[in-house]
Amino acid sequence: DQTTSLPDLPADDLAAFREQQQAAYDALLGRGLSLDLTRGKPSTEQLDLSDGLLSLPTSVKDGDGVDVRNYGGLNGIREIREMFGELLGIEPGQVVAGGSSSLVMMRETLVDLWLHGAVDSERPWSAEEKVTFICPVPGYDRHFTLLSWLGIDTVTVPMTDDGPDVEAVARLAASDPTIKGMWLVPTYANPTGQVTTQEVAARLVSMPTAAPDFKIFWDNAYALHHLTAEETKSADVLSLAAASGNPHRPIVFASTSKITYAGAGVAFLAGSPETVAWWTGHLGKGSIGPDKLNQLRHVQFFGSPDGVRDHMRQHREVIAPKFAAVLEVLQERLGGTGVATWTDPRGGYFVSLDVLPGTASRVIELAKGAGVALTPAGSAFPGSHDPDDTNIRLAPTFPVLAEVREAMEAVATCVLLAAAEKLAGN
Ligand code: PMP
Repeated sequence: DQTTSLPDLPADDLAAFREQQQAAYDALLGRGLSLDLTRGKPSTEQLDLSDGLLSLPTSVKDGDGVDVRNYGGLNGIREIREMFGELLGIEPGQVVAGGSSSLVMMRETLVDLWLHGAVDSERPWSAEEKVTFICPVPGYDRHFTLLSWLGIDTVTVPMTDDGPDVEAVARLAASDPTIKGMWLVPTYANPTGQVTTQEVAARLVSMPTAAPDFKIFWDNAYALHHLTAEETKSADVLSLAAASGNPHRPIVFASTSKITYAGAGVAFLAGSPETVAWWTGHLGKGSIGPDKLNQLRHVQFFGSPDGVRDHMRQHREVIAPKFAAVLEVLQERLGGTGVATWTDPRGGYFVSLDVLPGTASRVIELAKGAGVALTPAGSAFPGSHDPDDTNIRLAPTFPVLAEVREAMEAVATCVLLAAAEKLAGN
């Protein structure tokens, strides 16, 4: 660790420090690195864990005797809804198993709301003068892209250790009828890793909202993706919402993209029985049923919810050392410097790094110059605008361990050089 924090260094020492970092950076340039920490993708080693799928299913009938090769079964086969219903703490009758992408289900849901409104809407959202969403930040870039694609406005609230700043959310939702919903990644948030507590969830589903059809897009993409032995359960948002008299407020999404194959898994949507009927009603206009064969092979591959839990422990063995390497390098190189803070996630796919305000885009530019691709500056904010230019999302799962370490050493050098430049006034 640094003994003196950089912002406190006398000008001469800072100039010397800057020269050192410039030399370290120049040395990086000579190494011709080509490393990538941009997207939360499973590594090849992780994908290999699911290759049992490639020789399944061993039969073409599901547990109810339905031939999965044919049309039909819009809600998805019962056994996969039961398996993931149990894992997510949701009644199987309130779970729909669809195609391979939950993000597509989110987009479809927004489009259905736009064209028709929800079960509790007075009119289609497109007939409103304006629609606004609350976005906890930093958050998932594709959530924000979806909103701007539809012309939905955004208002941000900070993420806290207990989930979104619930006081801020409640104040906004109570006062502004154009606010129709919010995004939330409740477990191991992308990118900051926090878990939304039971108390915050209870408040979100019970708070008064000016819009009668306020929706929480409860994107539980990382529900089962623990990095430690502590397998934290997500809040039971659907039961809490029903008990509060707002059963239609949450819509839950999840998928096996980071459990089995990110391009050929199974995605899920869940909600009140009315919301599920609403969803399949609209879905049925364009679909005669999902890929049930893929659903059946997932059922056969896992055997039971415990099979999924065991499988997730195998993922953890592969990726926990990569997260440990990120944290080790950050601590060794940036601890005590006063120019960076970072998260220590218990699950999920990311480490969120905050650098000296005003330097994130410079760090990303320097890293790019040295052959290390980082997620573009501001991506975790609506409109790609990080007001403090401070946040960098690190995704360490895809590269092999040695490359994660090498990339992080380079990132640390870039953070220090950018900070020294900034503190020196250029
Ligand atoms: N939600 C979040 C929060 C994610 O991080 C991701 C993947 N990066 C997704 C959704 C995408 O999920 P899917 O593969 O099921 O479309």
